[in-house]
Amino acid sequence: MNFQITEYCHHILEEYIEEGDICIDATAGNGGDTEFLCQKVGETGNVYAFDVQEMAISHTRERLERANLSTRAKLIHDGHEKMQTYVKEEVKAITFNFGYLPGSDHKIATHPSTSLAAIESALNLLKKGGIINLCIYSGGDTGYEEKEAILNYVKELDSKKWLVIVNAYYNRKNDPPLPVFIYRLK
Ligand code: SAM
Repeated sequence: MNFQITEYCHHILEEYIEEGDICIDATAGNGGDTEFLCQKVGETGNVYAFDVQEMAISHTRERLERANLSTRAKLIHDGHEKMQTYVKEEVKAITFNFGYLPGSDHKIATHPSTSLAAIESALNLLKKGGIINLCIYSGGDTGYEEKEAILNYVKELDSKKWLVIVNAYYNRKNDPPLPVFIYRLK
């Protein structure tokens, strides 16, 4: 297995996503997670992908066109904190890749307040047996505020309804990314 954070998270997510599922990519960026989700939901499934940057939406659109997956996705140029305005059905998996898009303006990044609002919306939309993946970055331009806010928030989730697993690249230096999984118990 490839242990880069994206591949590692996809490896876990693919256990849960089935043909026909509805999924959300809350931070489309260059479309890596959107493409993965589109492959997994198959021809009968659907993926909603959000990003506040027009450039990210067009990169994701082009990527899906190249992969012949465009019909499976709805790309939404808006903040993920508003996802419940657009998504009205229960969903099976939701991915978040926080921080900024590498190679673009580092100032256009996720923020603790909107990230927490979006995670709350994601919890509202997730069906029983579903999974939320949070890839959290820290240090450098990003700082530590968002990581701490998210970890504090998920720690308080009701353990009768949610299982929260925090993974760590424990022996890596320089603020490695933190993969977090939230499971809605059946
Ligand atoms: N998963 C992406 C990929 O495969 O390329 C990378 C995502 S990148 C780390 C984070 C993205 O979050 C950026 O594209 C940024 O524009 C976006 N973003 C920042 N604030 C947002 C918000 N409130 N709602 C949705 N997207 C947001």
